[in-house]
Amino acid sequence: MLELSTPVQYVKGIGPKIAELLATKSIFTVDDLLHYLPFRYEDRLNPRGISELRPGEMATVIAEVRNSGFFRTRKMPIFQLIVGQGRSKLRCLWFHGGYLQEKFKPGQMIALYGKVEEDRSGELQIVQPQFEILGDDTDADQKASESLEVGRIIPIYEAIGQGRLTSRWFRRVIRTALENLTPDLPDPIPAMVRSNLALIPPRQALWQIHWPEPGESLQDLQSARTPAHIRMIFEELFFVEIGLEMKRKQQRAQTGIIFQLSEKARSAIKKILPFHPTDAQRRVLKEIAEDMQKPHPMRRLLQGDVGSGKTIVAFEAAIIAIENGCQVALMAPTEILAQQHYFSARSILENAGYRIVLLTGSLENDRKRDIRRHISQGNAQLIIGTHALLQEKVEFANLGLVIVDEQHRFGVMQRLKMMKKSSAPGDAVAEHADPKQNSCVAEPDVLVMTATPIPRTLALTLYGDLDFSVLDELPPGRTPIVTRCVSDDRSPEVWEFIRKQVSAGHQAYVVYPVIAENEETELKAAIKMYRELSSKTFADMKVGLLHGRLEPDLKDQVMHRFQRGELQILVATTVIEVGVDVPNATVMVIEHAERFGLAQLHQLRGRIGRGAAKSYCVLMTGGKVTEDAQRRLDAMVRTNDGFQIAELDLELRGPGEFFGTRQAGTPSFRVASLIRDRQLLEAARREAAAVLEGPNSEISAEEISRTLFHVRSRWQKTYGLVEVG
Ligand code: ADP
Ligand code: MG
Repeated sequence: MLELSTPVQYVKGIGPKIAELLATKSIFTVDDLLHYLPFRYEDRLNPRGISELRPGEMATVIAEVRNSGFFRTRKMPIFQLIVGQGRSKLRCLWFHGGYLQEKFKPGQMIALYGKVEEDRSGELQIVQPQFEILGDDTDADQKASESLEVGRIIPIYEAIGQGRLTSRWFRRVIRTALENLTPDLPDPIPAMVRSNLALIPPRQALWQIHWPEPGESLQDLQSARTPAHIRMIFEELFFVEIGLEMKRKQQRAQTGIIFQLSEKARSAIKKILPFHPTDAQRRVLKEIAEDMQKPHPMRRLLQGDVGSGKTIVAFEAAIIAIENGCQVALMAPTEILAQQHYFSARSILENAGYRIVLLTGSLENDRKRDIRRHISQGNAQLIIGTHALLQEKVEFANLGLVIVDEQHRFGVMQRLKMMKKSSAPGDAVAEHADPKQNSCVAEPDVLVMTATPIPRTLALTLYGDLDFSVLDELPPGRTPIVTRCVSDDRSPEVWEFIRKQVSAGHQAYVVYPVIAENEETELKAAIKMYRELSSKTFADMKVGLLHGRLEPDLKDQVMHRFQRGELQILVATTVIEVGVDVPNATVMVIEHAERFGLAQLHQLRGRIGRGAAKSYCVLMTGGKVTEDAQRRLDAMVRTNDGFQIAELDLELRGPGEFFGTRQAGTPSFRVASLIRDRQLLEAARREAAAVLEGPNSEISAEEISRTLFHVRSRWQKTYGLVEVG
């Protein structure tokens, strides 16, 4: 009998060599093998007759091999296979299909799957179909294995090891594993949860997901909505959510700083505000202040679309901490952004007497040493910087609050490192365990701010350990940005439009995908276009150039000149993507917009529409626009709503890419999909929270501890819940 934990070598048909191959796909145990799910299913009970095929449809056809041939066209070699059913015939083609020459013999039965097309003369054909030769087994179980291939809905697995382990191979091996699987498979999901979701037992789910019952809907199978799929997907999500919920509990048990919201802090906050806060800003500050007053460390994510006014909220939180005698670190992902925060912090906070320093990588070493000393001696109260703040050499005297701006640029691990920087060595924490002393030796509070609206599903898993605040309201007086998409053969009109806006006293950005041209691509580059625009098109205007390879000093200079209105047009690369705030800029032209990702386009566009004047974003395309690119551009034209854009972005790119590969800690799921399974994820989160509330009439203490044990022993490792910030 096989247990779930049995290594795969013990499954019949798997030797050490194959086990090694499987290991490359993280299949080590029987459990892993059984979670290697079909990526699609084929209806080989009711395959299509050749005569009823229609062009454009995806179809499964079972037919007999008639003849085949290999020939060369001027462009490429093609392998052609003719299959038949009675008198009807169907042609299949494979480009570069030389490797198939020995594969087929007349009379063989094969199953084909692919898209039906019409050739030029109106005959039907399938190009590059997936195929399986049926019943060519030489081993003794031929009879038995045949029933695994036709006459039913058949699971199709992704082949691995360059086709060494085929779909057929998986079918048989997984079947064997299921047949030998121990009959008593305990269900790790508590009974209460099972019945709430009407989940089928695990053994049944494993069987049915690989070998669907007769009559199961093909559509439900393909969309992973059969009871078997739901059971397995829910199970995965449920334990992840339990893990996250446990982490939240752990965090709540940690000693944090109890900040007091004194009258002095309140009036300081009121005094610095240069405008009336929006209702959303008021609400969010209240949430943050409440967290800060609690005895456990704050772990809060503040989401707010570009321009929603996160900075001032951050400064308000900083005041609370500083008024309690603690230091505040504000980290930004780029120097420019750190600079900008520094300047606005000085203009807003310095009058109130707060001591603010800027620490970035590009400072002279002497200067850095100086600043580090100010930090370690506690003179500096608000410390603004880039990643440089994470460097080991920075010691805080009494760090109480960490604010991370534009979180999507930081890895989760960095976030953690920052938190660990609380100045006190471990013993001191115990010594000063009374948090009321406010000696800032406890874990500092952490506020993470992001302009990337994170789709709720992702937020629930990626940041499931954080509390949420959302700034869902823009400051008053903003008119929505008008976005248009045009081809760059209309650039003269676009330049004319810039000219009008600049003449009216506004400023403009022109953004390029690359800094300098190179031979391989024909992309327009910032440097070259800067020359052209500044010397010809806009020769009478003040044009600046900003890109990542400029010396930091020069970069700052350019940015400040633009900020002060000394430059009217800024030609730039995506270095301006994040956070830059020049309210007088009302036009953004993005060349080769088809080359940019959706989140990036949205971030870029967020640089305009920051003042009261109407703003315009022109997406210029200068090359082939793929289908996906068109969808991105359409979305940009259609909506300014960051959440809608984020959802589409997630859909187009998938969760891994969404945050960039550098983002550590993105859980990779075996069966669940964050895009497809949103609803199950919500349900999982709800049920996980209910279970961890504690025992009641429906769930016993024993069941809860069994659930927790299960999480600790298995799932925690799978998802790195221990390590992830
Ligand atoms: P983001 O959320 O993108 O970081 P910022 O904090 O940079 O946004 O704010 C965008 C602009 O809106 C800034 O110029 C800021 O001064 C202004 N702003 C923020 N809050 C308000 C408000 N309540 N009323 C008017 N202007 C505001
Ligand atoms: Mg910002």
